[in-house]
Amino acid sequence: MISERMVDYVKGSSVIRAMFEEGKKLANQYGAENVYDFSLGNPNVAAPAAVNEAIKEVLDTEESTFVHGYMNNSGYEDVRQIIADSINRRFETHFNQSNIVMTVGAAGGLNVILKTLLDPGDEVIAFAPYFGEYRSYTANYDGKLVVVSADTENFQLNLQELEEKISEKTKAVIINNPNNPTGVVYSEDTIKNLAAVLNKKQEELGTDIYLISDEPYRELVYDGAEVVYLTKYYDNTIVGYSYSKSLSLPGERIGYLVLPDELSDAENIKSAANVATRILGYVNAPSLMQRVIAKCVDVEVNVEPYNKNRELLYKSLMEYGYECIKPEGAFYMFVKTPGDEKEFVNAAKSKNILVVPGSSFACPGYVRIAYCVSYDTVKGSLNGFKELAKEFGILK
Ligand code: PLP
Repeated sequence: MISERMVDYVKGSSVIRAMFEEGKKLANQYGAENVYDFSLGNPNVAAPAAVNEAIKEVLDTEESTFVHGYMNNSGYEDVRQIIADSINRRFETHFNQSNIVMTVGAAGGLNVILKTLLDPGDEVIAFAPYFGEYRSYTANYDGKLVVVSADTENFQLNLQELEEKISEKTKAVIINNPNNPTGVVYSEDTIKNLAAVLNKKQEELGTDIYLISDEPYRELVYDGAEVVYLTKYYDNTIVGYSYSKSLSLPGERIGYLVLPDELSDAENIKSAANVATRILGYVNAPSLMQRVIAKCVDVEVNVEPYNKNRELLYKSLMEYGYECIKPEGAFYMFVKTPGDEKEFVNAAKSKNILVVPGSSFACPGYVRIAYCVSYDTVKGSLNGFKELAKEFGILK
């Protein structure tokens, strides 16, 4: 028998699983080129050539037992220093290798930091719409996820409700910037106001409230949008980064946490994160990929294919009468459903268009379109979106 908890997790993950199965079924029936699968956040842009070159170079020039061996659980010191230097150069910060823990992607990093911070019953606050896995990651350590409702005006952060929901039990607040599923980038004003609320509540309650900034999409921005570096605005900030999306390496599982010296209890948090990495069973982040990242920290990311998709999709959906904030980052669009969300998702499916219901992100009444697909897929889907707009009465 599986555990009762796993029964719930399996049930909870069935929407995405069902969609995955549905996509395969439709592709078999109609041919993959006639199915418009916008359900997964799997980058369709190839990893930069520099990554493949670095893999070969590491294997050719570094000693095998070193490249494939165990190292410090937090990662190779030189790799962590190279990453710290790169962050310092780009964001005028002052980190060193002791502030970096290499992780098994953003997911691994979030689990390490939540294991490090949470006691049973501690609360973690997330803002709807949020990446659904935050709920499971928090529950993994017997924490409780508290959700602030969406600011559907502009999908920035509902800070008034945040202030109301912070309690003595609040251990952490998670934000995701640029955001999955909305594609929104939080403005500097939003971040300053967020910091003000957190500082005020810390003082009022006499507790530490850690801000976890989940940033796997940091480099994927358009129209010159700026993603501010949060450690400069709030001392108790932990950044989680991943190369899954920026370097198109989601299967390689490589990322890092930034644990600044300004954190309350910084030294204990750094050593505990090192132990958490080990006892969660990751032991350390993948060794070959760490060595590769050291050679690729400043590789430019080509966002043009995503941008082209974004422009075409946004322009077309607006023409057809849909409502949506124009995304400035990541590769998602969060579109208001004309009529009932489930009906829209099913009607879209009947036109071979697969999108994820907003309720998977605790924000019903919307669908997420992941436009990390080929330009042809976007073009091919437009007629279907147009027909849906007519069927749901937003296009005459
Ligand atoms: N956080 C967010 C907001 C994501 O969208 C994802 C992946 O889609 C992750 C974390 C997990 O990323 P990784 O593959 O680096 O574990």
